[in-house]
Amino acid sequence: MATDNLLAELLYRGVSRRDFLKFCSASAAVLGLSSSYVPQIAHALETKKKPILVWIECQSCTGDTEALLRATKPTVSELILDVLSLDYSETIMAAAGKQAEKSLADVLKNQKGKYFAAVEGSIPLAENGAYCCIAGRSSVDIVREVCGSAIATFAMGTCAAFGGIPKAHPNPTGAVGVRDAVPEATVINLAGCPVNAENITASIVYYLTFGVLPAVDALGRPLFAFGKRIHDNCERRSHFDAGQYVRQWGDEGHRLGWCLYYMGCKGPEAYQNCPTVKYNEQTSWPVQSGHGCIACAAPNFWDEMTPFCRRLPQPFGITVETTADKVGLAVTSATVGGILVHTVARLLRRKKKPKEESKPQPKTEWKGPQWHE
Ligand code: SF4
Repeated sequence: MATDNLLAELLYRGVSRRDFLKFCSASAAVLGLSSSYVPQIAHALETKKKPILVWIECQSCTGDTEALLRATKPTVSELILDVLSLDYSETIMAAAGKQAEKSLADVLKNQKGKYFAAVEGSIPLAENGAYCCIAGRSSVDIVREVCGSAIATFAMGTCAAFGGIPKAHPNPTGAVGVRDAVPEATVINLAGCPVNAENITASIVYYLTFGVLPAVDALGRPLFAFGKRIHDNCERRSHFDAGQYVRQWGDEGHRLGWCLYYMGCKGPEAYQNCPTVKYNEQTSWPVQSGHGCIACAAPNFWDEMTPFCRRLPQPFGITVETTADKVGLAVTSATVGGILVHTVARLLRRKKKPKEESKPQPKTEWKGPQWHE
């Protein structure tokens, strides 16, 4: 059935009104909105036209497409994505060759400024973009044209957002994220390895409901998904606070679900809604399954967070029983203390200065280079 109305399409696909409203409630929860917004979301989805989406795949493992497609049973979220007008996607569209490229050309010609773009994978800039070409054009050329004329671009996963693994040292292809490749484009960075399908759906629902894109942090990631630290919502947090840590894979603490800090968990430095939204139809997430967070939604995570099993540095004097909040307080106190000491010392030096200047300066002897251990 060809229709440009979301609700009509959902009803045609056998989604009941009850399931539809459940989906609206779930979307409000992911977005951090109260249940009073559910009628507004439902009304928007019932009445709005299907948005057009063009999906470009560059240097990636296709993990983000897989994250969307590898569900065990169809969900309303998937249907919402199904009923987007996905006019172009190299990986999943039925068309091929010239016919496929014509679909893209038609969108660019007839829907300029009216469609969304999704980019999966990083964009190589070295050798004029020769490391990733589609239909005889470099991906950087395509992305500049497609993202430059879109309402907004969703950078799907960390490779598209920040360059990801292809950008890791020594970055032979000169890989970058969408923002660096197309600075003038409006980009929402849905980082993660892979992207969380719930966050894509929620971003689209937000736009359809409020007519604007969700607020983002300094890294261009939507605040509803990346505004909170993993450590603060982790189900193992009580064990961290109690000083109960896994010390070896498979030890008693591991079997009892204790904190993975000493096994390299990067949760104290990572921001994402994994503990609350989870993956695979909200079945689980890495920490729940027994492995520490690797901060996969952070820029340069491959270079800066590896080895993944090495624990984060622990500030001097902080014991394992100390909570992260106390660590923050201790670091702040130390910083404030340091500033105070420095300021007082500087004032005292200033006071002393005239006397010292009047004194003859002792001659110093050159004793060769001084090395400090
Ligand atoms: Fe959870 Fe990791 Fe924080 Fe432990 S260190 S509470 S496992 S996020």
